[in-house]
Amino acid sequence: MELQLQCQCGQVRARLSHMQPKTVNRAVCYCRFCQSYLRFLGQEAAFADTQGGTDVFQMSPRDVTFESGFELIRAVKQTEKGAARYYAGCCNTPLFNGVQNLKVPFLGVFTGSIQGFDEPRNADDAIGPVRARVNKQTDEQWAQPNADRMSVLRMLLHVARLMLFWFVRGDAKHSPLCADNGQPRLSVERIRVKT
Ligand SMILES: [Zn+2]
Ligand SMILES: [Zn+2]
Repeated sequence: MELQLQCQCGQVRARLSHMQPKTVNRAVCYCRFCQSYLRFLGQEAAFADTQGGTDVFQMSPRDVTFESGFELIRAVKQTEKGAARYYAGCCNTPLFNGVQNLKVPFLGVFTGSIQGFDEPRNADDAIGPVRARVNKQTDEQWAQPNADRMSVLRMLLHVARLMLFWFVRGDAKHSPLCADNGQPRLSVERIRVKT
């Protein structure tokens, strides 16, 4: 099925194709970088759950097609080698994360930026329930469903299989973040936020 990724003010819009629970990998991350990134955007209330977790799903960049507002997207990194994080500069909506090397074909989309997912059942139907919870730091986070080590291991196997498939298929060349000459279309700016 198709999903619509959209910023809160509606200027940035992208269509996500071929979305099915088995073609994406949905997880919740509790790491301090995700949390400080949401603080940087002023979006903790909208995008972090009560335990400080961020719900994201990994998908192939080949299945992302921008319909409007690409020029409004900003890219930042919190450490020199760390994740590249893309957000809508118009309204500070987090859109997706990736690795800085665009030859690695995957994006981690913020589940909270998908249209219609304010109804949790819609998200579960379209991209499946959360497979695992990673980077847990507190007992409360460990006590959440699918936070156990087996769930994390199963999720890692699933995402490894997906990434291998995307890599072999050459999806990196079809990323909307990549210009025709293979160069990144956006530069990633280093930010300094307290983690
Ligand atoms: Zn916006
Ligand atoms: Zn994280």
